[in-house]
Amino acid sequence: MRIQADQSKCQGHGLCRMSAPDVYDTDDEGQVVVRFEGDIPAELEDSAVLGVESCPEVALTVIDD
Ligand code: SF4
Repeated sequence: MRIQADQSKCQGHGLCRMSAPDVYDTDDEGQVVVRFEGDIPAELEDSAVLGVESCPEVALTVIDD
């Protein structure tokens, strides 16, 4: 499972980071950074989904390969 972040939608609220700090961060400009470029480690998948669901801008998408 991967997470795709749409930077054009991200408003930098940081709710994803607060919900799942092991998966999401924000950069100096307040844009979301997914800590994993490829697959999310299995033990963090639930956290990753929580972060997706917390985003009010629908900027995060789960990609199931
Ligand atoms: S919650 Fe959404 S809008 Fe806010 S920083 Fe995360 S991805 Fe960006």
